Amino acid sequence: MSKQTDDFFKNVISHAKEYGFVFPSSEIYDGLSAVYDYGQLGAELKNNLKTYWWKAMVQLHENIVGIDAAIFMHPTTWKASGHIDGFNDPMIDNKDSKKRYRADQLIEDKIARYETDGKTEKAQRLQTDLNSALNDDDLPRLKVIIEEHNIVCPMSGTKNWTDVRQFNLMFSTQMGASAEGADTVYLRPETAQGIFVNFLNVQKSGRMKIPFGIAQIGKAFRNEVIARQFIMRMREFEQMEMQFFVRPGTELEWYGKWKETRLKWHLALGGEQTKYRYHDHVKLAHYANAAVDIEYDFPFGFKEVEGIHSRTDFDLSQHQKFSGKKLQYFDPEINQNYVPYVIETSIGLDRLFLTVLCNSFEEQDLSTEDKQDSRSVLHFHPTLAPIKAAILPLTKKDGLPDKAREILSRLKMDYNVQYDEKDSIGKRYRRQDAIGTPCCITVDYQSLEDDTVTLRHRDSMEQERVAAVDLEKIIGDLVGWKNLLGAL
Ligand code: ATP
Repeated sequence: MSKQTDDFFKNVISHAKEYGFVFPSSEIYDGLSAVYDYGQLGAELKNNLKTYWWKAMVQLHENIVGIDAAIFMHPTTWKASGHIDGFNDPMIDNKDSKKRYRADQLIEDKIARYETDGKTEKAQRLQTDLNSALNDDDLPRLKVIIEEHNIVCPMSGTKNWTDVRQFNLMFSTQMGASAEGADTVYLRPETAQGIFVNFLNVQKSGRMKIPFGIAQIGKAFRNEVIARQFIMRMREFEQMEMQFFVRPGTELEWYGKWKETRLKWHLALGGEQTKYRYHDHVKLAHYANAAVDIEYDFPFGFKEVEGIHSRTDFDLSQHQKFSGKKLQYFDPEINQNYVPYVIETSIGLDRLFLTVLCNSFEEQDLSTEDKQDSRSVLHFHPTLAPIKAAILPLTKKDGLPDKAREILSRLKMDYNVQYDEKDSIGKRYRRQDAIGTPCCITVDYQSLEDDTVTLRHRDSMEQERVAAVDLEKIIGDLVGWKNLLGAL
């Protein structure tokens, strides 16, 4: 990360904290590693992002429905899904610093350094070596690579490494009152399995016909070996996943469609096209026949925000095998029973939140020849903004607050609006810019005479005079869901 992007990212993080978007969890106890709390504005933004996803998936598609499955699931679920045996990361410890790392990430960091230093060929060779070691699950080879490339611990600076071991990422706990009789249960590491085990329940109760999808938003938990980059890699996070069930043989066509649909959804948020790219998986999971990530250009480089996977019939077949219950669909069009194939779209809500913060945050220099000036702005899409409008009486007296509160009580029925009368009007505008409020409504003396107000726009800072009775319509046009969904 260059100094400039490093500073930008630090500013995004501190802005998020200062204005009530994201706090470190249990901060008064010095926080809990890779766990974060969303504050008063963060919770609003997160809810709006969920709504955008849910509406785009469930409301706009006649053949997609949404569910809300429990976090705890029967432990056999995770045996069937392969998580108990295979949801591992290769880890390595440095004996001097006692710090633990993901072996593959140490090597990835080295590759990035080779690339920065212009050693492209060396970087490519190392990438090939890493891919083949990961493909073969060859842990001793990973250690040899680390040693051969002189990779040192960033803390101690030494090469005093342990062997590479597999580390299961699932959190477990005990369910049941008595210690002896208690069963080990897991905090789900992904929401997808809650959809697979409910496939028949939803298909039958909703009389769904293939192709159809089941969507879900919910918490997932992973004991990440190292967690870093703010809300990028967390131990408790939220996923928005959709499993789309299709007839075998049609899956790659649907995979192509979902790949396009999902990128379009990201672009509708307003980020530049060059900030997004596809990254096809070279190493496919054993059950997948195609997989791609949608990556976003974060200040620390292109990283995955969403995965789109063609998962074949792996999950349903596994659950069929382990539960002994048939998970099949009778397709009346071809008069056949089959286990459907699945295309999955899986996006991390917290990573999405971070893309929106990074995309929106700007420190604007507004200095003129006479005066130094600047402002921090969050250029959120108006539909996603936590606060849709601020209502500001010019002064605290002469009936202006009453008039402003009258407008507030009308608008708050439909929109999340805020009243503010403290400090100068300029300071209040800046406060609203900093939290991404798309417009401010100022009530002044003229408002008492002719029932008009000043509407001040966040991005252009332009002001216009509008009739107070038109405000519901004006705000509605500005922040309505059709502004986002219409672009899909
Ligand atoms: P990564 O390679 O970055 O660990 P992954 O390939 O394991 O991610 P998936 O299992 O495909 O991720 O999960 C789907 C999505 O869930 C990811 O695209 C990401 O947005 C989100 N996600 C996964 N792990 C985390 C995490 N620890 N913290 C926050 N979001 C996560």
